[in-house]
Amino acid sequence: MIANREPVRSGTLLILTTLAAVAAAAPSTELPNAVEQAARRYVTRDALAAPIRFLASDLLEGRGPATRGDELARLYLQTQLEGMGYRGAFEGGAWQQPFDIVGIKSHMPQSWSFEGPSERVPLAWRDDYIAVSGLQTEHAALEDAELVFVGYGIQAPEYQWDDFKGANLAGKVLVMMNNDPDWDPNLFAGKRRLYYGRWDYKYDSAARQGAAGAIIIHTTPSAGYPWQVVQSSWGGEQFELPAVGHEPRLRLKAWATEAATRRVLQAGGHDLDKLIASARSRDFKPVPLGVRTAIAFTNSLSRVKTANVGGLLPGADPKLAAQVVVLTAHHDHFGLGEADASGDRIYHGAVDNASGCAQVLAIARALAALPQRPRRSVLALLVAGEERGLLGSKYYAEHPSYPPGRIAANINIDGGNIFGTTRDATLISMGKSSLDAIAERVARSQGRVLKPDQFPDRGYYYRSDQLSFARIGVPALFFSEGTDFVGRPADWGRRQIEEWELKKYHQPSDKLDGSWNFDGMIQDAQLDMLSAWLITDADTMPEWKPGDEFEAARKQALAALGGH
Ligand SMILES: [Zn+2]
Repeated sequence: MIANREPVRSGTLLILTTLAAVAAAAPSTELPNAVEQAARRYVTRDALAAPIRFLASDLLEGRGPATRGDELARLYLQTQLEGMGYRGAFEGGAWQQPFDIVGIKSHMPQSWSFEGPSERVPLAWRDDYIAVSGLQTEHAALEDAELVFVGYGIQAPEYQWDDFKGANLAGKVLVMMNNDPDWDPNLFAGKRRLYYGRWDYKYDSAARQGAAGAIIIHTTPSAGYPWQVVQSSWGGEQFELPAVGHEPRLRLKAWATEAATRRVLQAGGHDLDKLIASARSRDFKPVPLGVRTAIAFTNSLSRVKTANVGGLLPGADPKLAAQVVVLTAHHDHFGLGEADASGDRIYHGAVDNASGCAQVLAIARALAALPQRPRRSVLALLVAGEERGLLGSKYYAEHPSYPPGRIAANINIDGGNIFGTTRDATLISMGKSSLDAIAERVARSQGRVLKPDQFPDRGYYYRSDQLSFARIGVPALFFSEGTDFVGRPADWGRRQIEEWELKKYHQPSDKLDGSWNFDGMIQDAQLDMLSAWLITDADTMPEWKPGDEFEAARKQALAALGGH
């Protein structure tokens, strides 16, 4: 057993190690030979390099949604899966699940004004506020709406937390703090930001209250990034799935700087610091601010079609085959855009995410090639529109090919290690579900140390397609590359990753070249493959850790199966 050479990393392991010493009864980290052989035989340099060479080639022009490159990428992925013995995963055996992406470019007024009892406060576009339309219509407006401060804007039954307390917020503009309560490690995971602390949750939460609009107060410490990032990421075109008509929607989603918010609050005789202090309590109740506002704007709308690609390997176990393990990677990237210094205007997306597609294909092939088919079904799902806001996975989650309560787990791959072999593996999803134990077991079988997110301030767990699955209650496994590279100084890996992010992330220069070392990507894809197999083979489905932010959604999904 290789386990004893490794440092003890958790309470669970301590127990396992002790048991092993006493009774030799601990579960072995050894995986069946045939499974390890398939991982070695099918997850190779060539198996990974070939799809990346194709998908990231100039001919596919960056795989922007609804382009010819997008269609070619989808046909390629579909035919690869077909050749492995997978079958079309969607209705009637279709390989693709089409959906529309709506683009919205809002034209906001240069000045947005707020009316207090004795004072009118104008906010300047870009300098003081940034806003986008919540409606997919050419004209939208807020007419004489009252501002209400709602603290964090969070409803979290598992923490007995409700900032709204049943107040009638219909038609109001909710002013909300960014982030989630972070002063107590037992409350909202302390310093770690949960989904409750993210802007997407805040706007959805406000919409569920029937609010007309929401303003998130930007501060650099609470957002984790400066105002310029809000300006650049919210100032341009936004992308969404088409509105279906009956879901609650805000008319306006806004951000304001801390200084601008202070001026608006003062117009109603309120002090931001006092309001923030009052929000740091379970007893907080919404505070009407005595300030009213109106705003009207126009939107330029566009609509394009793209599709998810899915192949299914039916499970071998008569009972468990009704449950599925979903492997995901997004196939889209940014297409053609502004040229870089070298004149290249193709956003190749080789690491992001031709490499993830290549890994899913290699894993899919290895699983299909096993002498015994896995007990649970396997869905290889290459999703579209990730770079536009996780749209393909969101669409799948809203129109799943299996009921969410029968999706055992999601394993998502977004990016790949191109710098070489590592002694460690990073599990971004660590601490959230029973999948930790599977990841730990496989990492140990590889002789690697499993580490939690090495860049916890970046919120990676909420930034790729696994989030769409977590939101419908499906436990997700999401690894990232290790940082402890064999034969390199301690901080070498971190420097490579940071330099890559600076020079190549979301730029035309993210392309395949001779500098790539595939050894680490092979390790990581094998880790995913072996984990996937263990999930397909386990007697029970994975579970969220009790009290996890997504546990309630899982309970709901299981209850919806009606006793199955
Ligand atoms: Zn990306």
